[in-house]
Amino acid sequence: MNIQKMLLTPNRYSRPQIKLGTVKKVVVHWVGNATSTAVNNRNYFEGLKVGTNKVYASSHYIVGLEGEIIQCVPEDEVAYHANDANDYSIGIENCHPTWEGKFSEATYDSLVALCADICYRYKLNPKTDLIRHYDVTGKMCPLYYVKNTSAWQKLKDDVGAALEAIVEEETSIVTTTKININGTVKEVERILYNGFNYIKVRDLADEHIIVGYDAVEKIPTIEII
Ligand SMILES: [Zn+2]
Repeated sequence: MNIQKMLLTPNRYSRPQIKLGTVKKVVVHWVGNATSTAVNNRNYFEGLKVGTNKVYASSHYIVGLEGEIIQCVPEDEVAYHANDANDYSIGIENCHPTWEGKFSEATYDSLVALCADICYRYKLNPKTDLIRHYDVTGKMCPLYYVKNTSAWQKLKDDVGAALEAIVEEETSIVTTTKININGTVKEVERILYNGFNYIKVRDLADEHIIVGYDAVEKIPTIEII
């Protein structure tokens, strides 16, 4: 997942630099402006800093039509996207090719990956903690996913599956296995991680393999005799 950092200039209208409390929810939005790009929307938030119309708006992330992800506000700062939920949520705006508001496949895939990553890092449950702007204020946002509850349910399910895949990949399981060293079978601990078996160098030691530590160079040593 490739995230482009294009942080907004600190300002009271779109990046107030208020500390975000514990992240409890991820709020999904549509930008509500068909065909506009992620950069267009990022620059809109940036432009609010002059305060011409005193509009308060921003989000942490914007996912573009090609699936690009732009970060506008650091995750530990409040963004102005979901009223009362601003203090405890991360906001993601999503671009859309038409006014129907359905996300393109590329946008959808990036959104799913981003949501799964955030859920993993903050230990959130996509079933309950992934919400729409609509769920906070009743606003028709993100439009297509308010009108089509099954599409919204599928999005949450897809994030759940992506989250499971991350957990599986990140979880290391220590088991014991046997290894044959110069004809002698020994039991050793192993960790299976990303398809590779890891065992401790120290477990390989026997009368022919001396495993030590060089305190001067501060590195492990192996001596075959
Ligand atoms: Zn919204």
